[in-house]
Amino acid sequence: MIVKSRAIVLHRFPYSDSSWIVKVLTRECGVVSFIVKGGKRKESPFKGAMDPLSLCEVVFNQNPQKAGGGDLQFIKEATLLEWHAALRANLMNQAVAQVMAEIILRYAPQGVPLQDEFELLEKAFADLDCAGSATGTGFAAAADSVAKSVEVCSAGVNCFQDEVFARWLLDICDLWGYHLDLDVCSRCERPLAEPAADFHPETGGLVCKACLGGESPRAKPQTLLGLWKLRGGVPSISTKTAVFAREFVENALLAYLRNHIGFLKEIHSLTYLQEIRKLCSVQST
Ligand SMILES: [Zn+2]
Repeated sequence: MIVKSRAIVLHRFPYSDSSWIVKVLTRECGVVSFIVKGGKRKESPFKGAMDPLSLCEVVFNQNPQKAGGGDLQFIKEATLLEWHAALRANLMNQAVAQVMAEIILRYAPQGVPLQDEFELLEKAFADLDCAGSATGTGFAAAADSVAKSVEVCSAGVNCFQDEVFARWLLDICDLWGYHLDLDVCSRCERPLAEPAADFHPETGGLVCKACLGGESPRAKPQTLLGLWKLRGGVPSISTKTAVFAREFVENALLAYLRNHIGFLKEIHSLTYLQEIRKLCSVQST
């Protein structure tokens, strides 16, 4: 069966002197592995379209016996739709995009269509791609665009770029059956009127001040403020505090996701993201 589908390149590694093995998230068939013969050559027709983080349209002949599985498929055509140049020019955005791609690769269900996952990732990459594009490249630009992340982007909407990764994690948790409610206390189930007093990633619960009582909180104040900001609270929070809170929130949601998935796999690109965070924080102070 010939399949034509939009796809996002998640990962690529060399197969021989001239070929790649490329893992893509297709809209129609979930994660598919392609062998791209001659893909490394300069004149390859797949150039750009098969770069990691690219959005493309692929045509391939799907073996019905091995539908959507990890078996290698031969790709017939790949057309680049969006290379995400602005996303790639911003180190922080590139690093979080790689983590998102790796989470899909390692944790998404195998052998099934992943249409919702595709749409969430396509939107997140588009959001990461649309701001910070005019600020040049390198560490300074990354730090600069993080600091100015709540800007109106070229599409005329507020991007809230520093929340793209956290919101994507929330949506993915939701999609995979681990909905996290940021509006209520997980113990008394009352709506929160202020930032929660604690967060427990293993149960997924925010805990209000009254329920926490005399216990000392395990979550850091930055995490709790950041989760509050994510649900639309604290508009007065200073940009600096917001930037500071970003990685705490992302780490808290990653811990939540990994706890609920029930088994831990190493996410290699997280190490790179942590390096970029360090570089950016040095630049912005
Ligand atoms: Zn409570």
